[in-house]
Amino acid sequence: MQVPLLDLKAQFAGIREEVLSAVTEVLDSQQCIGGPKVAELEEAVGRISNCKFALGVASGTDAILNCLMSLGIGPGDEVITTPFTFFATVGCIARVGARAVFVDIDPQTYNINPTAIDSAVTGKTKAILPVHLYGQTADMDPIMAVAKKHDLAVIEDACQSISSSYKGKKAGSIGTAGCFSFFPSKNLGGIGDGGMIVTNDEQLYEKLFIMRNHGEQRQRYYHKFVGGNFRLDPLQAAALLVKLPHLDDWSGARRKNAAYYNEKFAGTAVQTPYVRGDCVSIYNQYVIRLPQRDKVFKHLQEKKVGCAIYYPVPLHLQECFADLGYKPGDFPESEKAAFEVLALPVYPELTDQMKDYVVENVLEAL
Ligand SMILES: *Cc1c(COP(=O)(O)O)cnc(C)c1O
Repeated sequence: MQVPLLDLKAQFAGIREEVLSAVTEVLDSQQCIGGPKVAELEEAVGRISNCKFALGVASGTDAILNCLMSLGIGPGDEVITTPFTFFATVGCIARVGARAVFVDIDPQTYNINPTAIDSAVTGKTKAILPVHLYGQTADMDPIMAVAKKHDLAVIEDACQSISSSYKGKKAGSIGTAGCFSFFPSKNLGGIGDGGMIVTNDEQLYEKLFIMRNHGEQRQRYYHKFVGGNFRLDPLQAAALLVKLPHLDDWSGARRKNAAYYNEKFAGTAVQTPYVRGDCVSIYNQYVIRLPQRDKVFKHLQEKKVGCAIYYPVPLHLQECFADLGYKPGDFPESEKAAFEVLALPVYPELTDQMKDYVVENVLEAL
């Protein structure tokens, strides 16, 4: 037996004809930039996220980058975020010339610890960029309270958490803007790169819209700002429109798989994911925690059980951010998590036998 970390072919098998016909429709129309598929997807993602505005972009990274640029964040500004995230979150802050100010995580949820944010705010702080890691939203109420107190923007990096919720509110709809990624391995993945920004702020939406197309406002070749080419490919939109109606079922199947694992790991040395009572996770990843992580990782690889470490190096310790001046020990919870977390296969098409094989081998390694 072997169990991959993710099996996109299994998902594709069920929607193959629909995807091919949707993609063919775009090709036949030769509307290769923008067009009705992009508009339809924006409408649909705005609706499921409970946001008035949605803007298709080329990737989750471009979603974050466009938000920072459109909010006018740049050199001299500070953005508060977590060091325990995918590189793009912090890479975008650096790319606009702003400074990332890190706040450690809550060791249970792996999301930014809101109680430590207020003391990280300075006169230069312009925004808070919480990340909804592994499919669960950060604790947004206290984050929004700090933001309100200091008049800061809040950009939700919801790239791993589309359609998850916090106290009944959808990820991406709580802050100033929310960013989604359609990278193929995400819960809602395209057939290549893609992303979306959602917001309820009309003025911000207008700016995001302009910045998506090189800052060109209304009149062609007249540029009000320096933006980028952040456009979403209509082929991606076409495929995503086929997949979107399945998202709730897929997320439900992931939750079922997670519950199955939780039960099997109960009473063992494996620490299973903690989901807050007021959050609904979409389990973009199912992440266990164990001090003997490296040993288990090696064993699973030998037994052909797909697994991965998200993420082995917290961002304050990345070579490219050395100029920020952080050092080992600055964010102990993030550093500890980086040594102990391990993501197991949780994709919807897993069978019970496959899950049993995963559990068996994790326990065997221990
Ligand atoms: C995937 C991801 C991104 C970037 O998305 P891309 O579409 O790959 O550019 C940003 N932040 C987080 C937390 C992610 O998981």
